Amino acid sequence: RNGLIKETFILSVDVGTTSIKCHVYDKEAKIRGSCTTKVVLLYPEVGYVEMEPDAIWKGFITVVKGAVQDAGVQMRQIEALGISTQRVPFHNFITWQDQRAADLVKSWNRSCTMKALRGVMKVLYLLTRQKRSLAASLIVFSTQHVTFRLVWALTHYKKVCQAVAEGNCCFGTIDTWLLFKLTKGIFDFFSHPCDVTFSQMCWSGFLSFLVSLPLSIFPKVENTSHDFGSTDPSIFGVPIPIMSLMADQQAAMFGECCFDVGDVKITMGTGNFMDINTGNKPHTSVQGLYPLVGWKIGDEVVYLAEGNAADTGTAIKWAQELELYSDVQETSAMAYSVSDSDGVCFVPSFSGLQAPLNDPKACASFMGLKPSTTKCHLVRAILESVAFRNKQLYDTMLRETSIPIAKIRVDGGVSSNDFVMQLTADLFGRKLTRPEHREMSCLGAAFVAGLGVGFWRTREELKKVQSANEVFLPHGQPKEGAGSQSREYIPVLQSWERALRRSMNWYS
Ligand code: ADP
Repeated sequence: RNGLIKETFILSVDVGTTSIKCHVYDKEAKIRGSCTTKVVLLYPEVGYVEMEPDAIWKGFITVVKGAVQDAGVQMRQIEALGISTQRVPFHNFITWQDQRAADLVKSWNRSCTMKALRGVMKVLYLLTRQKRSLAASLIVFSTQHVTFRLVWALTHYKKVCQAVAEGNCCFGTIDTWLLFKLTKGIFDFFSHPCDVTFSQMCWSGFLSFLVSLPLSIFPKVENTSHDFGSTDPSIFGVPIPIMSLMADQQAAMFGECCFDVGDVKITMGTGNFMDINTGNKPHTSVQGLYPLVGWKIGDEVVYLAEGNAADTGTAIKWAQELELYSDVQETSAMAYSVSDSDGVCFVPSFSGLQAPLNDPKACASFMGLKPSTTKCHLVRAILESVAFRNKQLYDTMLRETSIPIAKIRVDGGVSSNDFVMQLTADLFGRKLTRPEHREMSCLGAAFVAGLGVGFWRTREELKKVQSANEVFLPHGQPKEGAGSQSREYIPVLQSWERALRRSMNWYS
């Protein structure tokens, strides 16, 4: 198909919570054309956060056409398409920040079934001393488990429930929906595919049984690098092979070339997601990190352990709407313009607190406000809270995985903020690397799609074409170790932790 074409490209689309982005990549992984459109989030009730499927589809088409036009190339020069999306289920898309299943989750966590299960696991742990049984004995579900938002939808929407009973309904993530639209449903809808990164290696029959979800509604699990079919020619004029479907964080991990055990990446976008490569074994956590399949390519399966903080960009955007500043680019300079936050602490918990506190009922708050508090103090407190949540997640990761950290790479919109980057490096006492090109989910999906069609051949080649990097070292520490800032910050961190504790269980 590319017989007469000199140069070819890989197209990649990332469907985020803030925006849908598309980039056209050349062989050097340089972006030759881009297009972005905003995602409209719907808040039908307090704690509900939804996205409208048709708006996502229209946005997808707009950015693909826009990026190809921006690159000044033709659709037939596109060798393959990769898609990275957030990990949410069907209906209006109920996003990962949504809290509607909080009561359901709480009642499950308190249920006799869960108590009995935990009891059995505790006995198993005492008999075998296996960390896995200990972890299972501490299992508490959170609102971020897709399962419970699905159970919630099935109990609250009669139509959906009836359709499932009649065998007319299937469950999918954003990528399932996009694939269905792009291929005009060439796959049998009831064997609709998704990649392993949205699930485990297969769907858990036990969990489905526990919450009464029929396994038949779930997508068929495929490898990350897989021929998912081609786009229908009527959509872009030519068929484009869809060669990768990935969940956003796994895609970002691949885009950051975190291929080795101990490689860590932090994506700071709407929320913060910290992932560590745990190799060919899933990690079992007792403090709220969760195991994920990073990718399955051929026979290689790589697992990740992930922790997250749901409200990073959300808090920054909120402060902008309150007119604490007019442009997010100003925030780093505002934070540096004062020597501290004047004792103000911000708790970034519009959607509860995740690992290691795991409290969906925590509230967001400012504490320690004084008549002397200025906008700059408030902004500094918000940015500090982003770095503090990073520190909490990092410490949890070190404690729980005991895997020596090889490298730490940081991306996402908020990684543009030098104040947050420097404070995080200081608190970790570690070097952080920030790529020039921050949209790693897009690049990761492009890398996998490109490897799939032979556009790129090896992972070493990918490392070489990765964009230039900027390094943040801990202050006063030419070498890695506890940064001096980190000692200065101990009392600030302690009072912030007190603010966290006081914000917990607010909505119970
Ligand atoms: P997502 O992929 O979750 O949609 P992005 O990675 O695109 O999110 O990040 C978007 C967020 O980054 C927005 O909330 C925006 O306010 C924030 N952001 C962008 N630049 C900066 C900056 N310099 N300082 C702080 N926040 C920033």
